[in-house]
Amino acid sequence: NVSRPPDVVEARMLLPIVTEEQPIMEAILLNPVVIICGETGSGKTTQVPQFLFEAGFGSSTSDNPGIIGITQPRRIAAMSMAARVAHELSLPSFRVSYQIRYDATVSPNTSIKFMTDGVLLRELATDFLLSKYSVIVIDEAHERSMNTDILIGVLSRVLKLRDDMWKAGKADVKPLRLVIMSATLRVSDFAENKTLFSTPPPVINVAARQHPVTIHFNRRTRSDYVTEAIKKTAKIHTRLPPGGILIFLTGQNEITGVCRKLNAKFGVKALERKRQKRQFADSTVEEHDTVNMNVDIQPAHADIEAEDLDLGHQQADDLAFDVDAGMTDEDPDALDSDEDTEEHQLDKELGLDSDDVDVPMHIVPLYSLLPSEKQMLVFMAPPPGSRLVVVSTNVAETSLTIPGIRYVVDCGRAKERRYDVANGIQAFQVSWISKASAAQRAGRAGRTGPGHCYRLYSSALFEHHFDQFAQPEILRMPIEGVVLQMKSMHINAVVNFPFPTPPDRATLFRAEKVLSYLGALGVSSSVKKGLMAAGDSSVDGQITELGRLMSLFPLSPRFSRMLASGQHHGCLPYIISIVSALSVGDPFLHEEGLVSDGTDNEDGDVDGLVKTGRKEFFRTQHMHSALGNFTSDVFRMLSVVGAYEFAGGGLQFCSQHFVRPKAMEEIHKLRAQISNIVQANFPSAGTGFVPKLVPPNELQLKVLRQLLTAGFVDQVAVRKDRLDNSSAGLKYTTCKGVSYRAMGVPEDVFIHPSSVLANREPPEYVVFSELIRTTRVWIKGVTVVNPA
Ligand code: ADP
Ligand code: MG
Repeated sequence: NVSRPPDVVEARMLLPIVTEEQPIMEAILLNPVVIICGETGSGKTTQVPQFLFEAGFGSSTSDNPGIIGITQPRRIAAMSMAARVAHELSLPSFRVSYQIRYDATVSPNTSIKFMTDGVLLRELATDFLLSKYSVIVIDEAHERSMNTDILIGVLSRVLKLRDDMWKAGKADVKPLRLVIMSATLRVSDFAENKTLFSTPPPVINVAARQHPVTIHFNRRTRSDYVTEAIKKTAKIHTRLPPGGILIFLTGQNEITGVCRKLNAKFGVKALERKRQKRQFADSTVEEHDTVNMNVDIQPAHADIEAEDLDLGHQQADDLAFDVDAGMTDEDPDALDSDEDTEEHQLDKELGLDSDDVDVPMHIVPLYSLLPSEKQMLVFMAPPPGSRLVVVSTNVAETSLTIPGIRYVVDCGRAKERRYDVANGIQAFQVSWISKASAAQRAGRAGRTGPGHCYRLYSSALFEHHFDQFAQPEILRMPIEGVVLQMKSMHINAVVNFPFPTPPDRATLFRAEKVLSYLGALGVSSSVKKGLMAAGDSSVDGQITELGRLMSLFPLSPRFSRMLASGQHHGCLPYIISIVSALSVGDPFLHEEGLVSDGTDNEDGDVDGLVKTGRKEFFRTQHMHSALGNFTSDVFRMLSVVGAYEFAGGGLQFCSQHFVRPKAMEEIHKLRAQISNIVQANFPSAGTGFVPKLVPPNELQLKVLRQLLTAGFVDQVAVRKDRLDNSSAGLKYTTCKGVSYRAMGVPEDVFIHPSSVLANREPPEYVVFSELIRTTRVWIKGVTVVNPA
């Protein structure tokens, strides 16, 4: 007895999964674990929770009173799906709720809860039986995010425990059910993995009602895929029938750039301007020019089929077109690019006649860092008479289904954080997606009718260089955080953990080593007794009391360690601010952000920086760098966080101090969250949350520097000439080009130009928080160990 709005009732009838409600519910009621596969858009995320709800799950009067929990790899999906299901069931947000890292709508009356997988993983640490829940739905399992993989492994154990307790007749204990949902059929790592589920779970395939999608490859693969994407979109818009266009790019900078260009050419305002110009021109030439009276049918209205045109063809003489031309210019005024000029340039580039089209584009960006109200815009119908154009990261690949898409433009790449297990160097790399991802992207064009996918790469490249499937995240990321979490759940022998795909032993070994360094793990009894082989010696270290405290924080173990030992001399509020800032990431807009190096996909507001002027920029930089006397990037962050809190936050502060508002807000929220955890778990530590933070005194700065050095004790860099005496005596005036050596890194590293140290005399010893490879290996978040 639920009531749905009439339009929802109608829309549901069209979803393939709705006809499968009965077999799905039967399978769930008869089996502890069920796997559901279905194309993106078939209704898995929005409908399965409703099936469960209608079957009584999540209501106090039923056999399964526990909450229905659904996990998502992304915050954006957790929030928007909760809102959608609440709408479909006509229930308030305190009944159909979400919980993400900093934000929640959950209440004691919540029946359906969407959350990020990280949130559920944390809950397991305090309530291993997940006693609040009657069923857990793990969504987007095909993405193989680290958290998803770990959750599936842990839940396979929780199911068994709950079942044993229920069979033993424990009061108030009911079995837990697990539903794993995937957008691809590749589920053998879960379904046929005997260490995970001894009885193979049933797999239900939801027949996709997918319309055919015609794939068009480019004849060649060009490196400037951003320009290619703009050109292709312009051609589709001017020559092909109505239907939304979805463009896949790799990051925020690209997306905002493309939105700007498309708006300048095809936005409502641009077309309005053009119309006015044309009217003016018509009225002046009318008398002379009556010959050319062809009545043009606007291509976007005309009912031709896309097959009529070969958009895959590329002219051989295509000029490389620098989309970021305005961004690399040093002259601040150049960024105020005249839209007319830009439009003209594009016309020339595309070989278009400006008068080709009078249907405006309704252009919507979509990426995780976009504020959620803005993200929701993709679900709104575009204004009548316009064409929807969504420019997205791979969040639109499977998590969100955007209605009305008929054309997909796929750059074939995605930005991924890669981590080199051997040396700990991280890099944001734009790399080729897998064939499976390419198929997902193409599929987005076939939801409402036959569609077309334009791949901005050649079929040869696709055949020979694209992997069949993406690698699970657990094989390419540091895992000390999850290892600590497992240990805190008493999973000691991590090697025996039922990973869907186990990481190799060297990775596990390294993670345990870092945790031992930090004092989170102790030597296990079996090692003491000499029962284990030398190579395995640290593969079952036990969690220490300190480790247990550290596992309470939603932070990298290194940062938790700093917190755990930062309780002297009133330093706690500062260390909380520092680890919050380090966790969220550098909030500063940097000067070199003007020339994007592709690593920093978050510096969205460079335009604002240039407009307000360099002088102001350097003044505020200087002001914040002065904390600790120009010796620490971390202190610079602390300074701006302190000032932000003191000022009570706000956008104005951010633009005056050249920091990213979204980062500052996240730091603020994380700071509050950590302070709460501190207060709840270490009442004796005194309050960690000080609403208005005053700058630390000299003694406190000294203690903070010691804590940073201790926390990064394995991330030290030494000036190279100090080590090999090769250029001893050479006097440097800045850090530019000065080589450093870091422990465990086989090549020279350099202090990043954004550092407070960059233009100062290079110190001999520093610790750093990050190693990033771009053109060379940079160290970021640098602090001088022993300042003069
Ligand atoms: P799946 O999880 O199988 O990919 P979903 O349950 O996410 O499918 O989507 C089912 C349908 O619901 C899609 O057609 C999608 O367009 C629609 N839908 C999802 N969220 C919204 C929303 N916020 N507004 C309008 N329609 C939505
Ligand atoms: Mg889904």
